[in-house]
Amino acid sequence: MSFISKLGKGLKGAINAVNSDEYQVNGVKVTCIHCSHNRFELGDAQLNTAGMTFLNLDWANSTASLLSCKKCSFIMWFAKEPEKLIKSS
Ligand SMILES: [Zn+2]
Repeated sequence: MSFISKLGKGLKGAINAVNSDEYQVNGVKVTCIHCSHNRFELGDAQLNTAGMTFLNLDWANSTASLLSCKKCSFIMWFAKEPEKLIKSS
């Protein structure tokens, strides 16, 4: 079972952004810290663990977003979901 699940999240209503693979977080465009590429694949991953559920600490569970560089495959993690940059042309 894959730890990383690509859920097609946000596909609805994102038709205009469908060709974009550039993202920003907190108003800053995301650039790969390894190779300086700026195109990414967005994914997400659950941060919860079986232990947390067992201890009834589901409130502590959350989802992290990750961006995988399309060039070098470096993965950057974000606690909130990056915004897709919509190209204006
Ligand atoms: Zn890279």
